[in-house]
Amino acid sequence: MSEINKDKIKQINDMVSVVKLASLMFTAIIFFQYVFNDNEFLGNLVYQQIIFMAIGVVMLLLLSIYIIWAFSLNDSISKSKYRKMIFVENLAFIAIFFIVVLLSGAYKSEYKYIFLFIITSSTIQLGLKHGITVAVISSSLILGIDIFCVNTGEVNNYFQTDLILCGIFILTAWPLGFYVKIEGEHINNLEELVNKDGLTGVFNHRYFHDALKEKITVSEKDKKPLSMIFVDIDYFKHYNDLYGHQKGDEVLRTIGKILRDNLRTDDIAARYGGEEFAVILPNTDEEEAMIIANKIRKIIEDTEFYGEKNQPNGVLTASMGVSVYPDKAKDDISLIKSADDALYRAKFFKKNRVEKYTSILDEMSIDIEEKDVELVASIKTLIIVINAKDRYTYGHSERVALYSKLMADKLELSEKDKKRLVYGAYMHDIGKINVAKDILNKKMPLTNEEWEILKRHPQDGIEMIKHVKALEDITPIILHHHEKYNGTGYPNNLKGEEIPYLARILSVIDSFDAMTSNRPYNIRKSYDEGIDELRKFSGIQFDKEIVEKFIEVIQENKDHLDNLI
Ligand code: GH3
Ligand code: MG
Ligand code: MG
Repeated sequence: MSEINKDKIKQINDMVSVVKLASLMFTAIIFFQYVFNDNEFLGNLVYQQIIFMAIGVVMLLLLSIYIIWAFSLNDSISKSKYRKMIFVENLAFIAIFFIVVLLSGAYKSEYKYIFLFIITSSTIQLGLKHGITVAVISSSLILGIDIFCVNTGEVNNYFQTDLILCGIFILTAWPLGFYVKIEGEHINNLEELVNKDGLTGVFNHRYFHDALKEKITVSEKDKKPLSMIFVDIDYFKHYNDLYGHQKGDEVLRTIGKILRDNLRTDDIAARYGGEEFAVILPNTDEEEAMIIANKIRKIIEDTEFYGEKNQPNGVLTASMGVSVYPDKAKDDISLIKSADDALYRAKFFKKNRVEKYTSILDEMSIDIEEKDVELVASIKTLIIVINAKDRYTYGHSERVALYSKLMADKLELSEKDKKRLVYGAYMHDIGKINVAKDILNKKMPLTNEEWEILKRHPQDGIEMIKHVKALEDITPIILHHHEKYNGTGYPNNLKGEEIPYLARILSVIDSFDAMTSNRPYNIRKSYDEGIDELRKFSGIQFDKEIVEKFIEVIQENKDHLDNLI
């Protein structure tokens, strides 16, 4: 239910409750009138006390009805439960009014119209069908009294008037209920217009954010996971350039429909940006979310789109990133961020794939001493900032860390050295935080001055982590990862074995990933071309032995490397 709708219902309930309370007061007056008028024993003191006690009991009864009503308005109960409670409450009111009519003269009662209170209020609260039902029940009770309470032989002069009264009951409920219905539909239509994306038919960006916050609150309360999928169409700019925006819009419309048709009823699909969609999967863990994402990815791949054979892969596809609350993200913002991170990883590895969010730094936090946790968290933020500055090297740190894991196993490094290498690999570029975005992303060769700035990043990096005791022994790796085997590297022109072993390993891996990924200043090389390049500089820039071992790692893993990352 939307906030506006909730607010409306709350206001209506406030008003109706006043009406109901007032009607209860009237019944109380009628009831006491009956008690005081018809009993001669009121002169007796004992009876007076009994009567006052009775008044107390009746008041308590009224109060408890009021409490039922107040409870029924609680925000957290479901809509169907709420309707049931109001329905039960209405039945109780009908019973009270019935008793009052019986006590105040049955078919002769002057108070039969009191049912109007419950007919109008129930119609306003629960709608046409319910209002008519209450009107019919009330009419039947009145006509029933007219028929069954009249002594045999007596003529009931009230019958005709009561028939008219029953007509009034129905004719009050019907138009009022009709109005409530039309107004409800109108509000639903307006809500659709406000919350839906006109082109794709899925929810819009604004609604997505509201819904995500709400669903995360629910999932926190229920202690259930909530997953999110980010979807981005591959090479969509290319498609638009070829066929124009109108054809592009048709693709967006189809993908919107695929999402609407293939998600579960509780899932929320939204258009997050131009050609990006986001899906909220309440009550869903990562594994299930991956299955759903892969299913949708496959449907998009298998759907025929106009002119898709001219797309770079010969088919129109989408890439997806998956993340899950609370395992991978602590709130809505970080959930979006992590799903977006995963999406970029999927994009990087050939597109048309689903990736889940992983972070080596998160794993690393387990080993970090309590007092350093905050510092490590800020290092993580720094790496995110570097990634944002340097979109082309996105995922570089994580990939280099992954290669390092494989390499550590190949070289049979000790657990301690493996961790040093992996952590060092992950953080080797943090010093780049000081390098301006335009230098990092520059396509032209750098000027001498710019080179000097870029070359400072190993020293800047160790400055940043020097206070973290747990990271002490990775500083040599960061400091020397740009040294060259022949002594022409930086910052210390170290040569051969003078360069720490783990730094020599990182140098090979770092260079290989730079060659085989998209960089502003070069075109991505294939794995084989990367291997040739390593061999070319083996013994000059790189340690020969390490190069050979690393080539073995690449060749062993080439086919499934993408899946490993
Ligand atoms: P990648 O595979 O890396 O995602 O490449 P891409 O070309 O899809 O790159 P990107 O996601 O940055 O492309 C966004 C393009 O989406 C730019 C624009 O042409 C297109 N686009 C964004 N909004 C709309 C829209 O409302 N209608 C249409 N037809 N195209 C849109
Ligand atoms: Mg995009
Ligand atoms: Mg795209």
